[in-house]
Amino acid sequence: MQLEQLDPLTRGSIFHEIQFRLFGALREAALLPVTSARLEDAFGVLDVVLKRAERDYRDRLAPPIKRVWQAEFEGLRADLRGWLRHVADEPGGWIPIHAELGFGLARSGERDPQSVREAAPVLSVASLRGSIDLVEADAAGRLRVTDHKTGVARHAGSSLVIGGGKVLQPVLYSLAAEAVLGRDVVSGRLFYCTQRGGYSDVSVPLDERSRGAARRMLATVDRALEEGFLPAAPAKDECRYCDYRSICGPYEELRAARKKRRRLGALNDLRLER
Ligand code: SF4
Repeated sequence: MQLEQLDPLTRGSIFHEIQFRLFGALREAALLPVTSARLEDAFGVLDVVLKRAERDYRDRLAPPIKRVWQAEFEGLRADLRGWLRHVADEPGGWIPIHAELGFGLARSGERDPQSVREAAPVLSVASLRGSIDLVEADAAGRLRVTDHKTGVARHAGSSLVIGGGKVLQPVLYSLAAEAVLGRDVVSGRLFYCTQRGGYSDVSVPLDERSRGAARRMLATVDRALEEGFLPAAPAKDECRYCDYRSICGPYEELRAARKKRRRLGALNDLRLER
């Protein structure tokens, strides 16, 4: 069978890398923040970045079918142009200051220079490792963190906090950014930054409510680790979207549903958190 498209994981990782390269190129060209007045110039920079990325990835992945490969990059270009257009229209005066801000990870040219090797201490109970896609500052110097998503928008609305323990990036990345940068973070958000995701975003304020939800989630995980009680207990339909399905096999949800679990009270409480 011929390769008809890139798998979503590879496409997502290429998309992220191009965004990171674009951030550096736009900063160098003094085009940040991208505004309506700078949009045409930003498109020009995007084309240069895309051309180089296409060559690099072609060397690395050796795609078998030229037509499919070119169509994929045309799709990426359309998504990225839409993203820039959306960013240029955004209100709030947010100025991008860091891209791929890493903490607890090895040094790399693919991360922001202000990344730190130490893990980020969070709420005095956990140390986090990871990388934040984008950090922006407003006129008052307060920060907003963004996690870019390339899939369909699975979350929307204003009531999201930790999504029953399934959507942790907005709050945990906000807390990590506070620890790494020593500045107040106003909110964290998921930004579905492709046509597929409708360029929609969902924002979670970093306040007492979200800090409390993160604290309860971390305490639940801590307790489970201490007790060594980590059973497979997937919520309905979760296995379908899970990256570990190839390890668990296709029947884990069915198998887990047949077992009576008396000790899942804390996990079930967590799943009720918005
Ligand atoms: S595939 Fe395994 S790890 Fe993933 S949700 Fe199902 S049981 Fe959990």
